[in-house]
Amino acid sequence: MPHFKLFMTLTGAALAALMVLMFITSLFEKRNNAAVKAAILILVCGAITMLPYLLDDTYKGLIIAFDSMVILAGLYLFIPSSFFKTDNEPIASGQIDERTIMFSRNELKPNTQHYQQYYQMHPEHLENDEQFRQLPGLLSPQATFYNPLSFRATDALFHIVDGLHQYVEGQAKDTSHSVTPDKYGQFIKQWARKSGAVSIGFTSLKDYHWYSVGGRGERYGKKIDKQHHTAIAFTVEMDHEMVAASPRSSIIMESANQYLQAGIIATQIAMFIRNCGFNARAHIDGNYQVVAPLVARDANLGEIGRMGLLMTPEHGPRVRIGVITTDMPLPVENRKYDSSYEDFCNKCLKCAINCPASAISDINKDIINGVERWQINSEKCFKYWCSAGTDCGRCMSTCPYSHPSNILHNMVRWSIRHFPNFRYWAVQMDDFFYGRKSTPAKLPKWLQTSN
Ligand code: SF4
Ligand code: SF4
Repeated sequence: MPHFKLFMTLTGAALAALMVLMFITSLFEKRNNAAVKAAILILVCGAITMLPYLLDDTYKGLIIAFDSMVILAGLYLFIPSSFFKTDNEPIASGQIDERTIMFSRNELKPNTQHYQQYYQMHPEHLENDEQFRQLPGLLSPQATFYNPLSFRATDALFHIVDGLHQYVEGQAKDTSHSVTPDKYGQFIKQWARKSGAVSIGFTSLKDYHWYSVGGRGERYGKKIDKQHHTAIAFTVEMDHEMVAASPRSSIIMESANQYLQAGIIATQIAMFIRNCGFNARAHIDGNYQVVAPLVARDANLGEIGRMGLLMTPEHGPRVRIGVITTDMPLPVENRKYDSSYEDFCNKCLKCAINCPASAISDINKDIINGVERWQINSEKCFKYWCSAGTDCGRCMSTCPYSHPSNILHNMVRWSIRHFPNFRYWAVQMDDFFYGRKSTPAKLPKWLQTSN
């Protein structure tokens, strides 16, 4: 009997310690509701710790039942993923025409040749696109979440990103070199991390990584030339506080901020590679020739989640991606499919429930472009952006993978990846502490325009 009592006490103490960590983390993250719930659970777990010594031997059965339940639940929840069979993901086969994406369609002006050509090719898009053209639009003073400070700051940031476009391409220097692919790879990885990248990887380029036809600026209507064989993909983190207030104005300012950071890192690496005598092109906001999330996925930086964004092990979808394509020899690695994201997305659905435009599918994957995957309804999503004035990001902020990087959330993300049975429980816990349908956080104080 003393062993059973001790086990129950230790279980209670371990759970109480976990709740103390949850309480402190929630206070730091200003999640008051979660902190209150954690405080109540600290008391409950404290009571479990004391209970065995308050009960006499008449309650022996109760203590044994509790201990057995804890052991069985622990064994069930923490069966490692190697015990489960996972299917290999089929690879995409089709290429995307960049002219069909919403940013490209947004740039079409009525009564122009491109406008007429596009809607002759895609008459099914005309009615929808005329609707979003009637709305205020991104960064408009008439938009719902107009904020004079952050909208102007965002405009400034995008202006500087546009200024980087002149550096994305260039002539490779005529220079000799005697550096191994591994050394180049190591140097680029370290430098990118020092410059602010969170993760970085290399992959061989496939046809489906490239847009088939350009859809913006001077590339409009031109066939994309698949000029390089290798890609470098990296991610930069978006600030959690700025994302948490989405769809308010902080989200678009943070998007622009991180597009700029990704743009600086990508252009500096592309220029470095050209200085080493190899061809290279940076792919940055407004100037992509490749589908960045697919390149990043194949460079082993994450998997595509239900909301259609790259889900990374470090910050979930709360990242921006930069890509450089090149003919520099680099140590590319084969893609390792991680089924944990898809399995978790099948159980979670939080982005679909919280999307204000109902643009995210709440059913399992479809076959799209030759591959089984989720696709958001980009028309509905973009229409919402045009009335909000921001790039919304509600899906990103409510995703359980997006929580800040700290001991507690890193532990949960790690367990989600490695223990399949833990995933359902993780969704329940996330709902319990943060709500199934959550309300956006307030704008950070320094962005608020009224005192
Ligand atoms: S950005 Fe907003 S509107 Fe678009 S899919 Fe995400 S939650 Fe929905
Ligand atoms: S919110 Fe849930 S369902 Fe949506 S991408 Fe994140 S983990 Fe997947």
